[in-house]
This record gives sequence, structure tokens and C-alpha cells, in this order.
Amino acid sequence: MYHISDLKKFLRCERLYFYSKDENNVFKPYVRSDENIIDLLIRYFGIKEYYEGVRNDPNEKFFSQINNYEWFIHPRFADGDMRMNVPLMHKNNDGFDLYFFYYGITIKELDLLGYRVSLKILNKLGIKTNEIYLIYLNGEYVNEGQLDVDKLFICTSEYKGKRLKSLIEEGEINYDCLIRRIDRYNPDDTPPKKSRYCKLYGLCDYYSRCFPDEDETADDSILTLVSSRYKNEMYEEGIELLKDADIKRLEGSRIQYAQVMASRNGGLFIDRYPLIEWLNSVSDRPISFIDFEWDRYLIPIYPKMKPMDVVCFEFALYYIDETGKMEHRTFVGTGDCRREFVEALFEYLPEEGPILAYNADGAECLRLAELGEVFTEYKEKLDKIIDRFHDLAMPFLEGLVYDIRMQGNYTLKKLVDICSDYSYKDLDIFDGMEAVFNWRNMEKSEESKEEIEENLKEYCSLDAYGLFLVYRWLIELIVESK
Ligand code: SF4
Repeated sequence: MYHISDLKKFLRCERLYFYSKDENNVFKPYVRSDENIIDLLIRYFGIKEYYEGVRNDPNEKFFSQINNYEWFIHPRFADGDMRMNVPLMHKNNDGFDLYFFYYGITIKELDLLGYRVSLKILNKLGIKTNEIYLIYLNGEYVNEGQLDVDKLFICTSEYKGKRLKSLIEEGEINYDCLIRRIDRYNPDDTPPKKSRYCKLYGLCDYYSRCFPDEDETADDSILTLVSSRYKNEMYEEGIELLKDADIKRLEGSRIQYAQVMASRNGGLFIDRYPLIEWLNSVSDRPISFIDFEWDRYLIPIYPKMKPMDVVCFEFALYYIDETGKMEHRTFVGTGDCRREFVEALFEYLPEEGPILAYNADGAECLRLAELGEVFTEYKEKLDKIIDRFHDLAMPFLEGLVYDIRMQGNYTLKKLVDICSDYSYKDLDIFDGMEAVFNWRNMEKSEESKEEIEENLKEYCSLDAYGLFLVYRWLIELIVESK
């Protein structure tokens, strides 16, 4: 039996499907949803009675209930080896209205493949579809203390001014043919050839399996050139290193200039005076290094939240005081800990001096501005903290520093790797999403709560300490370049 998700994987990359089919990967959603969407939709539509399909129901199950109910939740259907279910179906005269759910506040892309498979199977089974609706979240809705489902959802039968049903019917999907192609493979086969979609929807989970040699390419390979339209073309022509890049085919950004110059200089480029100027702008003491962790909620379950808002649940802070002494503070909350987060920040953060974070504007500063909107009594104080932030990514993103060991990677983790012996690989929690997944589990078990909290502190503290390490490295680079 195949599901729509199998077709999607196969169409993205046959090799990806081949690798994934024997793995029991547990889907870990990037966005958190503690509420059951279907339960909320039942309230939204005021549904009193319904038939709910279960996994592997044969088609007959639906037909046996067709005269007993108006509403159907997740009814299961199959055509040959192709299975699917529709989130909600509503009987309407001689046919049904279908309701699909979109996980977001703006519809960025229609899941046409999924809708077309569903419609085709229903047609084949002789089930008439009258209208197709898409339900998504109202980005303007604010939880005023209690979840108001009437205002939470938006239900539409149109997309970009066109009728959804017509858009779906415009295209054909031949899933029989796709299934025949999928069936050609068996686990003992050589994996299918590689595709070009490895980074299209974020890095494919199987990237290191498919490209094990990538780490062995030269640090200053032309393939590490950032935002370059022509790097592959140059590589195919035999230009292997940044230092040999064809200047006419560079877009001319400061980052690219820094990369090429680092390759020509033996590995490092520093734009000395602007870098000294930047370091001078953060030379006051105390100086703080801070990192936040947060989780994003699909449904605004807490007061003053909108759909897709975040809850900051952790920060780690290092600061160096006027005497040169370093202090370390952490905060990890549970549940709706937004107020505790802000109050702990006020308690621990030095009252003055620069604060360094990585990608500060789009991360820590944005989070504090959001918290200022929620806790208006703290807004002024939070705004003053925001004004003290400096972005440690700036010297790198402005092309003031480039070390070819960065390999075109501008993350804090990469920089920490280059300038120190510290490694995230030694930690139980080694990246931001793992931190989020662990935090979600923290409340579920008293036994593991303490251990998870410790692991979270270790991870976030390395991010904050990493800021200090990178800052110190920049100072060393200036001293050494005298
Ligand atoms: S890394 Fe690329 S080639 Fe390999 S499975 Fe993923 S998408 Fe396919």
C-alpha cells in the first residue's frame, strides 16, 4: 500500500524514497501543536455527530455509514495500492464538500498532488465532490484568554482568486504509473541515481550518505562560494579553487571578495580597520554573551499569542564584568514561561554594557520585541535591552573576516569549531531543533525532567560561550595581524 507521502518522496528524489522506505522515522514537527486540529474543527463547524475512519478501513466502511452521518472525519479510501484519507467531509445534497487543512497563516503553496490523488480516488469510487475548502489559521487572531475557534480559522474555497476545485481539476495525476515505477525497486537494488533536490526543502536527511566525499573537498573549493550563480559552471570548467575564480563571473559581494582574498592569502582574510572599529563598538564592560531557545506554536494556546507565535523557554548568559571576571547564568522554564523568562533576564543580565548574540536582529532582538508587546509593562525596559545588542554575525556577513575553514558556512557552530576545541558533537543535545524536541518532552516525565534540563543548559551554554570564543578569536586575529 502507498500513501501520498510516498509519492511525494519518490517525486522529490527516487533515491530518497529508496533510503526512507525501510526506516521507521518518527516525524518531528518543526511547529508545535498540542491541540488536536480535528477537535478544534469539530468545534468550529459545530459538528455534533460524525463518523471517524480508522487506519486500514476498507472503502465499504465509508459506504456502510453514508446514510447515517452528515460529517465524516478522516474517512479512509483506497484505489488498488493507493490509499488516502480526507481530513473532513460534509454531505451536501447529492455529493460531498471536502475540507483540507493548511498548517500556516498564509497559504504559500497548494498541495496539489495530495488534493488531486484524493479527488481522483473519490471520483473512481463514484463519490461526487461538490466543493473543496482549505482551512488555515487566522494570523490576526489574538488569544484573549480563551481560544476562540470562530476567529482562529479561515475557511476558503479559493486560491489567488480562482476556485480551488477548478485548480485541482486542471491537472492530472497518474498514480498507477508512479506506483509501477516505485515497485521496480527492491531493498537489494543499487540505490537510484542522485537528484538535484538535496537542498530544495532544507538539507535532505540522507545528504551525508549520498555525498560522503563532500567533506574531503578543499576548504577553499570554488563550490563554497556564497550566493554565486556561476560556481558550478566554473567548477565544471576546471576552476577548482576560490583564488582562481573568474572575476567577471562573481556577483561582487563583500562576502565573495573576502572568500577569494582568503584563498589567495593562504586561508584568512581580514578587513583590519573596519573590524577594529566594530570591536571598539563593543569594548565597554560589562560585556554579555547571550543565546535564547524558543518553540513555535501552531495554535495560540496561551493568552496574547497569535497563531505561529513563539514561547522563549531558555537562555544562557555569560558576562565579563569590569574586573575581567566571567559569570554564567541560565534559565529554563516549562509551559507558558514567558513572564519568568523576562523576569529572569532582568535579574541576571548586567544593567549596562554591550550584549552580543548571533543573528541578533532576527532572533534575540525580535523575541524581546515580541515579549514587549505581550508584557507592555516591561516594554520600555526590554526596548532598552534591545538597543544594547550587537550582532556577532555582522563581521562575517559584511565580509570583514573570512577563514577558508568556514567552507562558506556562516553558522555559529562552524565558527566555534574553527576557533576552539569545543564541539557540539560531545553533547546529548547538539542543535536547536533537538533542544526544542527535548523541551517538549521535559514535562512528560518527572524522571527525565532533570536530565533534560541539564542537557538543555549544556547546549544553550555552549552557544553562549561560543559567542565569547568567537569574539575572543576576532581580537586575536587583529593582534596577530599587526
Ligand atoms: S541527498 Fe539528494 S540525492 Fe541523496 S537522497 Fe537526498 S535528495 Fe536524493
